[in-house]
Amino acid sequence: MPRIRSLVTHIEIDVALKAHDCQGNANHRILRGNARLKVRNERGWDHYCLACAKVIIQRDIASLQGVAAQLDTGAVVQTETQLEV
Ligand SMILES: [Zn+2]
Repeated sequence: MPRIRSLVTHIEIDVALKAHDCQGNANHRILRGNARLKVRNERGWDHYCLACAKVIIQRDIASLQGVAAQLDTGAVVQTETQLEV
């Protein structure tokens, strides 16, 4: 039975063991002990502060809801802008 894959498999929330800059905004500092969002990339993990994490997640939810709405209405339009590289 084929497994249905998820689009969001590689994210976690953990606690920073040492202080470092947020990878979404170098002005954001993640302090030791702060919760942070971990996002898998090709080489390892990107880490974002919770403010950036909320923006990222809300944007992705909106994007997925947009796709779900397109599937619901059957309003599937092919444009070059939808092809992300
Ligand atoms: Zn940030």
